[in-house]
Amino acid sequence: MLYPDERKLIVEYGKKLLSSGLTKGTGGNLSIFKRDDDVVLISPSGLEYTQTRPEDVVLTNLRGEVIEGTRKPSSEFPMHVVFYRERTDIDAIVHTHSPFCTTLSVLGRGMPAHHYLVALAGGDVRCSEYETFGTEELAQTAFDAMRERYAVILKNHGMMAGASSLNKAFYIAEEMELMAEVYWRACCIGEPMLLAEEEIRKVASGMKTYVRE
Ligand SMILES: [Zn+2]
Repeated sequence: MLYPDERKLIVEYGKKLLSSGLTKGTGGNLSIFKRDDDVVLISPSGLEYTQTRPEDVVLTNLRGEVIEGTRKPSSEFPMHVVFYRERTDIDAIVHTHSPFCTTLSVLGRGMPAHHYLVALAGGDVRCSEYETFGTEELAQTAFDAMRERYAVILKNHGMMAGASSLNKAFYIAEEMELMAEVYWRACCIGEPMLLAEEEIRKVASGMKTYVRE
């Protein structure tokens, strides 16, 4: 079996999606890109995270041709590979329907930089256009809305985070969910005070080494 360690990471972080409350059931998906070998390791379609074993993880190339695995790759495969094709700073993706980011998504709202940790996403988190799940159109609008960022809210759908490693991508997804919750709570009481763009840029550049790979 190729890439046993990365397969285990996909299984482990899938379970973490559930235990951290970032998803329920089979919602969301994860992948890792081994850039030097043109290999994408992605969670299988429609399989419970608690039931997923390392051998269920699907290995494909960027064109979607299966290299190893008997399962179907996640239906959001196009939304993962568009980043691996176009951005060399992203080698792992976490996609979730986490409740607070998804709340913003159904309002068609992004998240401004209301707290310094929003800088983990590289700056304010934009909201994409709505497109049907699993389509190339969704992949493209997610890509466009995530330019120069590491997270995006997907309109009427959920959120996505990308980074140089699965640990980082997961961490960003988890923190953005907390940030969305704080933003929502703050909006319930009044108008959140936002940080200046220059400050967020400064914090973002200081954060590059803040999270382990
Ligand atoms: Zn989804």
